[in-house]
Amino acid sequence: MPDRKFFVGGNWKMNGDKKSIDEIVAFLSKGPISANVEVVVAPPYCYLQYSREKLPSNIQVAAQNCYKEKEGAFTGEISPYMIKDVGGTWVITGHSERRHVIGETDEFIAQKTKFALEAGLGVIPCVGEKLEEREANQTLDVINRQMKALADKITDWSRVVIAYEPVWAIGTGKTASPEQAQEVHEKIREWLRKTVSADVADRTRIIYGGSVKGSNAAELAKKPDIDGFLVGGASLKPEFLEIVNAQG
Ligand code: PEP
Repeated sequence: MPDRKFFVGGNWKMNGDKKSIDEIVAFLSKGPISANVEVVVAPPYCYLQYSREKLPSNIQVAAQNCYKEKEGAFTGEISPYMIKDVGGTWVITGHSERRHVIGETDEFIAQKTKFALEAGLGVIPCVGEKLEEREANQTLDVINRQMKALADKITDWSRVVIAYEPVWAIGTGKTASPEQAQEVHEKIREWLRKTVSADVADRTRIIYGGSVKGSNAAELAKKPDIDGFLVGGASLKPEFLEIVNAQG
């Protein structure tokens, strides 16, 4: 079984200013951060370069979104090449706030995922069901539909980290139980095995997001198909280090 390096992303969302970023940089620089964990933080676009210049080199920088073209008349959008130019190495695509607040579609998210991969970034596409979909037993239908749109466009999975983020757990304080999260992660891996390949299923990291905290990360991290976390609110606080080191 290939070793899947534990991966923890911090999504700062639309929060912060230079002063608060300096505070985050201070606790991240102090650590400790296990060498067995890949750590990536996603500042707002306008602080990408500032954060990159201040953060220690063992922490990578991601954008929270990107566009599906290199350049041109796309006012307000940011190209993966610009993210690379200011030192970013990853991008999050299809975060639930992009899907459900901004209205991005599966197809659009897949297009930008493909384009960002071709531009040389690592990509963290997010999938996840809404509460009403879970209650209607549609969780796997939704995830499979979102995964299929991605898989139709992705040819190289080596720089893809899938984030399973149930929408009902994001920013709500309601975390999926380790069993609930493991169940979906296992199904995503099975889907990859059937639809893409056994190798991709074994190697692709599937991380969990949704109200992960210092106090619940270790239990979640014990599950065999949970390969790390995508963290929102708690990534702004020193508690993020507990999550980073949750595997022990
Ligand atoms: C997120 O923004 O991806 C997220 C999971 O947020 P939170 O940890 O605040 O629920």
